[in-house]
Amino acid sequence: MSVLEEQQDYRSAARAWLREHAPGPAAKLDADGLLSRARDFQAALYEAGYSGITWPTDAGGRGLGTAEAQIFSDEAAEYELPVGPFVIGMGMCGPTLVDLGTPEQKARYLPKLLSGEEIWCQLFSEPGAGSDVASLQAKAVRDDDGWVLNGQKVWTTNAQWADFGAVLARTDPDRVKHAGMTMFIVDMHAPGVTVRPLRDMSGRAPFNEVYFDDVRMPADAVIGQVNQGWHAAVTMLGHERVSIGASRRPRSNPLEFASLVELARSAGVAGEPKVREVLADLFAHERALELFNVRMRQETAAGNPPGARGSVAKLAGAMLLRRAIETAGEVAGADVVAWDPEDTRGPELALGINSSPASSIAGGTNEIQRGIIGERILGLPKEPQVDRDVPFRELKVGTQRT
Ligand SMILES: Cc1cc2nc3c(=O)[nH]c(=O)nc-3n(C[C@H](O)[C@H](O)[C@H](O)COP(=O)(O)OP(=O)(O)OC[C@H]3O[C@@H](n4cnc5c(N)ncnc54)[C@H](O)[C@@H]3O)c2cc1C
Repeated sequence: MSVLEEQQDYRSAARAWLREHAPGPAAKLDADGLLSRARDFQAALYEAGYSGITWPTDAGGRGLGTAEAQIFSDEAAEYELPVGPFVIGMGMCGPTLVDLGTPEQKARYLPKLLSGEEIWCQLFSEPGAGSDVASLQAKAVRDDDGWVLNGQKVWTTNAQWADFGAVLARTDPDRVKHAGMTMFIVDMHAPGVTVRPLRDMSGRAPFNEVYFDDVRMPADAVIGQVNQGWHAAVTMLGHERVSIGASRRPRSNPLEFASLVELARSAGVAGEPKVREVLADLFAHERALELFNVRMRQETAAGNPPGARGSVAKLAGAMLLRRAIETAGEVAGADVVAWDPEDTRGPELALGINSSPASSIAGGTNEIQRGIIGERILGLPKEPQVDRDVPFRELKVGTQRT
């Protein structure tokens, strides 16, 4: 069988599986019902071999190529799959453990992550450390049988459900700020962990603030090496950017091209030249990003990981969403802010519009991506960094005032 025929078979099998197993509407479920629906679906994905498609087999994955992953995500875009609770684990923490985890960590954590038994979150940002995450102040201190963690994290997506988190903490304040950090696996159910929801302008609470008060972590909780947390963080941020940039929204999403065309038709404006122009422009950008992502995956498979080009995908994805919001305004006019009570699309569109700007901030803001692209791809001069060679203890950052 040729490679193309094999891929066609894989597509047919994935399509048939999704048709049979993709869950139906979730409208009537409460929060617990939604979570258990998501867990059941993730377990079914794992059972069928569609979870961790490209992960190595010794990490619990299927060891297949990016072509199969691409085929599955194309087919999956036909559905609104309940995978939200697992995106941080699958897209960021898991791939970092694949790269840097010990054999024991991989065996303990990855299969349960892939099968939906355990949920993960990523704890980098703090009130005084976002874009400049190396300014973080949460600290972990070594004692006889492990580490003791104290500090506050913020904007932690999915912490309300998480069993484990990848937390970045300062372990040596006498080193310069990028050198004295370590990444740990923290048990989110351990004594001393407090999780409080934070609401965004869409009215939902997708993220949280998290407090650690004398939380104990075992000695083998370190991801990578002690005091080399920056390397682990850069590894994870690279996965995060690729994962955000490459993620496909369901075709039914109200800000997708096909949905906006449908909206234009039902509003009776599909023939208007201005509307046609903005829709065509959106289509061209959507398609260009899709192809860019395909190319990045193929290059990664050929042993040439994207590095800083992950920032291009991340930035382009965020800009595309902004463009989609403007297109929605052009197509639906005042209907994006006020609609008839019987119009079910109004609230959906408003929710999409209110939650989309977050993509210009989460995973590194657009300005930060532009800085990375400027320095590392275009070869422009580096931003001045006066604090780079000063021991962390001597810096004025966050609440630290020396
Ligand atoms: C939906 C969502 C989910 C998130 N989930 C997580 C999560 O799971 N885990 C986690 O750890 N964090 C998470 N975050 C936090 C996110 O990583 C930070 O919000 C982001 O890195 C920006 O940090 P900040 O909010 O502190 O803003 P700041 O860093 O204070 O930035 C403020 C403004 O200054 C600009 N700016 C800052 N530095 C520069 C510079 N050097 N050059 C040019 N402009 C600059 C920024 O672009 C921004 O416009 C999430 C955020 C969102 C919105």
